[in-house]
Amino acid sequence: MPYTSHGYWFGRGTPTTPPPPRARCGGPGMCTTCRRELQHQVMRLPRRFQVWREVDTSGRSRTGRVADGVQWPDGTVTVRWRGDQASTAHWDCLADAELVHGHGGLTRFVWTDEE
Ligand SMILES: [Zn+2]
Repeated sequence: MPYTSHGYWFGRGTPTTPPPPRARCGGPGMCTTCRRELQHQVMRLPRRFQVWREVDTSGRSRTGRVADGVQWPDGTVTVRWRGDQASTAHWDCLADAELVHGHGGLTRFVWTDEE
């Protein structure tokens, strides 16, 4: 951070961390996703999301809306898992959470604050 999830730098100065893969979306000037993320970062607002699991690959998990989460203005992410043994996980960035829980696209992260 601060990069948008599409890999566009929007912080002050020069990046000190290597950029994530950059999407060909045109950046904040052209892309609504980049622009929305930039606005949330600049305004320092938390951003809510839900985690939906389409397929239970382990045979032990539920499907449907399995967790709720917040991305904080510093880019870190908190996920609260639903269910009888609910738990909370905190990640340095959304990409880490998606890497662990994305299951190759079978689990979707859905933003709920989109206007
Ligand atoms: Zn973009």
